[in-house]
Formats: sequence, C-alpha cells, structure tokens
Amino acid sequence: MTYDVIIIGGGPAGLTAGLYTSRGRLKSLLIEKGLTGGLVTTTEWIENYPGFEEGILGAELAQKMEKQAVKFGLEIVQGSVADISLAGKLKSVILEDGTRYETKSIIFATGAHPRLLKIEGEDRFRGRGVSYCATCDGAFYRDKKIVVVGGGDSAVQESLFLTRFAAMVFVVHRRDQLRAEKILQERAVSNPKIKFVWDSVVERISGNDVVNAVHIKNVKTGEKSVLEVDGIFVFIGYNPNTEFLKGLVELNGDNYIVTDDRMSTTASGIFAAGDVRSKPYKQISTAVGDGAAAAISAEKYVEENF
Ligand code: NAP
Repeated sequence: MTYDVIIIGGGPAGLTAGLYTSRGRLKSLLIEKGLTGGLVTTTEWIENYPGFEEGILGAELAQKMEKQAVKFGLEIVQGSVADISLAGKLKSVILEDGTRYETKSIIFATGAHPRLLKIEGEDRFRGRGVSYCATCDGAFYRDKKIVVVGGGDSAVQESLFLTRFAAMVFVVHRRDQLRAEKILQERAVSNPKIKFVWDSVVERISGNDVVNAVHIKNVKTGEKSVLEVDGIFVFIGYNPNTEFLKGLVELNGDNYIVTDDRMSTTASGIFAAGDVRSKPYKQISTAVGDGAAAAISAEKYVEENF
C-alpha cells in the first residue's frame, strides 16, 4: 500500500501535520516510536498555548491533538524508523522490525531529546536520582531536596513545578543570569523553595544505591562544594533526533534539519517541522505552525508530482 504522506514523530508538529493532511484527504500515516505527544507530555501545565485561557495539562493537550487528527483519518502506528530509501519517485520507510511502507512524501517531526551533562555518576544513577523529566519523576521527591541544572525556560518552569513536591530546589546555573522568560524568572525568584546557585557547574554526582550528593564548582572563584540532595533534574537543552537522517537531507552544524520557510528540506518531497528543524524559537505554538506549513507543502508536492 502506498501512502501519500508519512509523518515521522507524534508531537505537536507531527500531529498537526497529520490533522492537515488527513483532513486534506491525503492517505496519511504517522509513525511514533513511543507514546504520541512528544515533549509536551513531559510538561505538566501549559499556559502559553492559545485557546486555553486557564492553561491545560500537557498530556491532555497532546491527547486532544491526537483525537482531532485521528477523527479525520490519520493512521498512527508505533515503530522505530531504521532506514529511509529515496531511490525512485516513491520513498520507503523501513522500521526496525522490518516493516516497509511506501510513500509519496515524508514529513520529519522527530523532535529532540534531552542533552546530557556527561559527568561522572550521571549514567550510573539514571532513574535512581538522575532525571530529565519532572512530570514523570517529580512525585518521588516529596519533602526531599533536589538540584535542577540549567537556566533556560525548561529549568525554571520545571523547578517551579518541582516545588510542589520537594522541600528545596537548588537551581545550579553556569552564569549569573537566567535565559528563561521573565514571567518564569519572577515566579522562581519569589518562590521560597527555590535557591539559585549562580556561576556554578555540576562536576560529579555521587551516592550509594541512589543519589545522595551533587558536587559543584563555582566557575568564577574555583571554589568547590557539595549539595546533599536526593535527586538531580537536568534541563540543559536538547539535541535533535536526526541520527538516521545523516546524508539524506542537509543538517546544520548542530544536526538540526535545514528547511526553507515552506518546511521543504534539501530532498524533494521531504519536509520537516517542529523542534527537529533549525529555527530560533521552540514553542508548542511554533511547532504547530510548522506542522501545518509542512502539511500544506506536502499536499502541493503530491498534487504536482503524482
Ligand atoms: P535552552 O533554552 O537551550 O537552555 C539551556 C540552559 O542550560 C541554558 O541556561 C544554558 O546555559 C544551560 N546549559 C547548556 N549546556 C549546559 C551545560 N553543559 N552545563 C550546564 N548548563 C548548560 O534549553 P531549554 O530551557 O530546554 O529550552 C529549549 C527550547 O524550548 C527553548 O527554545 C525554550 O524557549 C523552549 N521552551 C519553552 C518553554 C515555555 O515557553 N514555557 C518551556 C520549555 C522550553 P546558558 O544560559 O549559559 O547558555
């Protein structure tokens, strides 16, 4: 069976693309390797996505997006893409279990994954005190002390969320200024459960079975200290999920997919949308915009070429 479009990745960009293409009567398949929703599901509460004036749970927003797309005929399968073949006019998407799908066009909406600190103890204590998802693991730290690393929107937003459980959240940031948006900064600074540790980096994580200390260094004074905590949440940015795309489409120096403003990549009939794309602002609303644009471009491509 040949699809008109295969969308790889089921976050807001992919689900929006799927809504548009299935509603546009293209035979559309979305392949997602985990659960649909992408990084949105790792955010507890979203208050900057228009249309929900009181805010909405990340998981609920993702569910609504999925339902809306499926209602118009989007097929969704779970699977991990192993390879993509562009030989000939039709393209093939091959999953790790060997399943092969033929398609006229592809939209990559594979998103990004959390960046690692790459320090001693990070691997050893992953899932036992080291986490990259506050929504998933926050409740394990009721009345405990924790460290959050980073100074961007994710670090500050998730620190605020973690104060619901933790007794104290130490935000360790390598500079003395936050990158996070002002409204989040204001809330964090006035939260008595958040303490900032400025100009500092985490050098090592230690413990026995689980984390019990985070070793930090002040980058200005060189002074070293130890924070006795039960957990550490790392929010130092994301890397794009493009490992299987190398050589297929142009990537920028950080491995994000290069597109034009119609979401076209350098390969004909291949589009990209959302956090996997090289672009300055990574928001749910911009991912949704990308998804819609990629879908319209894919529709035009199929119409003109088949
Ligand atoms: P980010 O904006 O790239 O910020 C990463 C933070 O981690 C920065 O403060 C950076 O420090 C620090 N950092 C990077 N590498 C580090 C390292 N090796 N060691 C220690 N610290 C390190 O990442 P993000 O906060 O995950 O946000 C990603 C994107 O999603 C952004 O576009 C953001 O706006 C968006 N987002 C938006 C919302 C929202 O709208 N509420 C929520 C979450 C994410 P420096 O500041 O010194 O560079």
